[in-house]
Amino acid sequence: MAGLRTAKPGGKAPAGQGIHDGQATGMPVVSSESLLALKRRARRINRALAEKYPYAHAELDFTNPFELLVATVLSAQTTDVTVNQITPLLFARYPDARAMAEAEPAALEEIIKPTGFFRAKTRSLIALATRLVDDYDGVVPGRLEDLVTLPGVGRKTANVVLGNAFGIPGITVDTHFGRLARRFGWTQSEDPVQIEHDVAELFEPKDWTMLSHRVVFHGRRVCHSRKPACGACPVANWCPSYGLGETDAAKAAKLLKYELAPGNEALLDQLLAETHRAAEIRMASQKRTQ
Ligand code: SF4
Repeated sequence: MAGLRTAKPGGKAPAGQGIHDGQATGMPVVSSESLLALKRRARRINRALAEKYPYAHAELDFTNPFELLVATVLSAQTTDVTVNQITPLLFARYPDARAMAEAEPAALEEIIKPTGFFRAKTRSLIALATRLVDDYDGVVPGRLEDLVTLPGVGRKTANVVLGNAFGIPGITVDTHFGRLARRFGWTQSEDPVQIEHDVAELFEPKDWTMLSHRVVFHGRRVCHSRKPACGACPVANWCPSYGLGETDAAKAAKLLKYELAPGNEALLDQLLAETHRAAEIRMASQKRTQ
């Protein structure tokens, strides 16, 4: 990644704040920022996100690497909430690779139907489970180079599994992460592998997994694809894309989602008070709103 960036003039900075020299459209713009300055700014954003979302975690529910691998495959083209709704039944019926490899396709399709593309996903899951049984004795391998050879498993899925089920640092580039990395000026690429490399250059490996969760949390709650809530954003001071979305604080607050949404203060308080139980609290709140 180039250490220096080209500036475009424009953009409206909030009074007394950092580096907002970006235009309120398109790619972020940072004037002649050295790699060192970019690293410092990126790490400042990560710290601010850590303060804002001390309860950030993997939003797919799982109890072992196999469950996380399957849940991640199922999460393509749907939400984690939808996947979490069907996985309890799925894993009760098919608790491991051997059981899933022998699944009757029609029965598996019926369970995973709500996640969409269920025929293709059923084929993928049975092929994936069969491969695990044939080549890995039914055990999910803990190496990127092995994981990416499994049917239906790309780098994103592999990094999710490594980072969250094996504790091996990984950067997970999904649609939210890619969008925010570009808005932050951490990359200019649309290619997930290039984004992963660009961002990896800015952070210590020990930070990769939690950084991924925080950035995705921020993308889902504040920095939305179409209407980023810049006026209510905890990293506005260090974001070259400030002004891309609503900058009025009151209007921006109305755009926030999940526990940050107006009216959800009790849920936010609970998450902040009990960060170690965040996944459990989130699941309970999702069940209440179903
Ligand atoms: S919401 Fe925050 S992170 Fe997203 S573009 Fe606006 S200031 Fe940047």
